[in-house]
This record gives sequence, C-alpha cells and structure tokens, in this order.
Amino acid sequence: MSTMLEVSGVSHRYGTGAKAHTAVNDLSFTVEAGQLASIVGPSGCGKSTLLRCIAGLTPPTEGQVSLHGDRVDGVPDDLAVVFQDYSRSLFPWLSVQKNVEFPLRWRSLSRAERRTRAAEALEQVGLSGVGGKYPWQLSGGMQQRVSIARALASRPALLLMDEPFASVDAQTRFELEDLTRRVQREQGSTILVVTHDIDESVYLSDRVLVLSKSPASIVADLPVELPAERDQITTRESAEFVTLRGEVARLLHGGTAAPEAATAASDAAEWELAEQAKDVTETKTGS
Ligand code: ADP
Repeated sequence: MSTMLEVSGVSHRYGTGAKAHTAVNDLSFTVEAGQLASIVGPSGCGKSTLLRCIAGLTPPTEGQVSLHGDRVDGVPDDLAVVFQDYSRSLFPWLSVQKNVEFPLRWRSLSRAERRTRAAEALEQVGLSGVGGKYPWQLSGGMQQRVSIARALASRPALLLMDEPFASVDAQTRFELEDLTRRVQREQGSTILVVTHDIDESVYLSDRVLVLSKSPASIVADLPVELPAERDQITTRESAEFVTLRGEVARLLHGGTAAPEAATAASDAAEWELAEQAKDVTETKTGS
C-alpha cells in the first residue's frame, strides 16, 4: 500500500499573543491509499481545523500536510470535501446534474464527458433519474447524496468528509453510512471521515484515530477488525463492535482501564447523550 496522506507535526493556532488559541497540537499520522479512516473527537477539540489544514483551506501554523507525496499549500485539484451542511454546499439555482458537473468545469473535459461523469456519479449514489430536479425538491438525505456524487465525480485521490451525516435523521444516516462503505469498496477510494459519533466512527471505518480534548492530539490509532461486509443491526450487536466502541468511549473520557464490554457500552451511550445534549445547547444558542 502507498501513503496517500501524510500529516507531519501539524499544529494550528488561531490569533496571536495572549489571545492565541491552539486548536491542533503537533498531530502526525498517515492514511494509506484505499483506506477508510475516521477521526473521532469531542466537539470543539479541533477536528474541523485539522480537516481544513488537510484540505489546504487553512495553512497550519506548524508542520505540513502531503497528498501522494506533494506538499499541500492550497486546495489540491484531486481532493474533494463533503460538508455537514448540504443545504449550503449545493447551489439551489442549478439542477442536480449541473451541481454535480460544477467542479468539473475546471478540468480539461468536454461537455459530454462532464455530463457522463456526473450521470455515473449520480448512479453510484442511487440517484439516477433525478439529475433534472433542483436540490430543494429533494429530501435532506438525497441532497447529501448529491453532495457525495459531486465529490465522487471529480474522482478525488482523497475524499474528506466533515460530520457528513450529522444533519440527517437516524435511518438516512444508516443508509448514507452503508452507501459510503459500498462506494469506497467499489472505487477503492481513500476516505477520511471526521465525526464526533463513536458508533459511526467504528461502523464506517478500517481504522479510528481518537483525538483528545482541545487542543487536539492523537490519543489512539485503533484498527477496526470487523468483517468488510457490515450490517447496521448485526454488526452493531456484535461483541467486537461493542468492545471497540467502549474502548473509543473510554479513550475519549481519558480513561485507560479495560472494564467489561457492558460497562464500556453504557459509557459510550452516556458520552453520546452528553454530546447530543451539548449539540442541542449549541444549536439553541447558535454557537
Ligand atoms: P471541532 O471541529 O472539533 O468541533 P473546531 O476545529 O471547529 O473543533 O474548533 C477547535 C477550537 O478552535 C474551538 O475552541 C474553536 O472555538 C476554535 N476556533 C475554531 N475556528 C476558529 C476561528 N476561526 N478563530 C478562532 N478560534 C477558532
């Protein structure tokens, strides 16, 4: 396997002097080509900042990011990002087909090639036949599928996903998680997903990187040794899944002991509830 992404000693500080705030602290890791890795960490720990550094949207204060060996110092052409807020990332005045074609305008592709690529990407996400509709005519889950199709159409070397399913209902979230795994396996894509959802990080990935509270540093890099074929019910019930989600939850709490799986699972549930409560408060206060 070759290294697709290399993050070396990346730190990021917002502001300067006494008001400086370190969001990311000396992070180093690599993601191999064809891997689906998740980064999980508490809200506010610096996940989005890290992702922006990887995407070339924010230059790190220290360290560097390389994509297939090339140093990132601007948004690389062969990198795509799927954001949480599909309603703000799709253009409401363009049809679904035109939204998916949009980033291809900067590629040396004919109009016919752009059209074909967009149609293929829509088919991959199960949306053939809706190219003529507008985003606002689709459900939230379908709109996020369009965002995924748009990212896939550019055939990125690395696909970054920032809390991609946090704005859809639970059932749709499950469908989109399965869709991501299917597409990743069919295309052999390299995907890095940022999430604060422990279960999602374990279910989706080949590997989970656990971040500390702010400023983010890596507290663990755990392989997910679940079967490649996963199922939303049976995989989540399996002893391996329950143990791993407990381990991630414990690490997020800063603990090191290894309690029984049942205790670990209840820790995980508690942590999730605390996070959800925080999300609700943040939404209400608009922070
Ligand atoms: P996460 O994605 O894990 O929720 P963020 O990367 O958004 O975390 O934020 C990490 C920390 O950096 C938080 O304390 C946040 O308030 C701070 N932060 C994020 N963006 C800015 C900014 N543009 N200016 C100053 N501080 C910021």
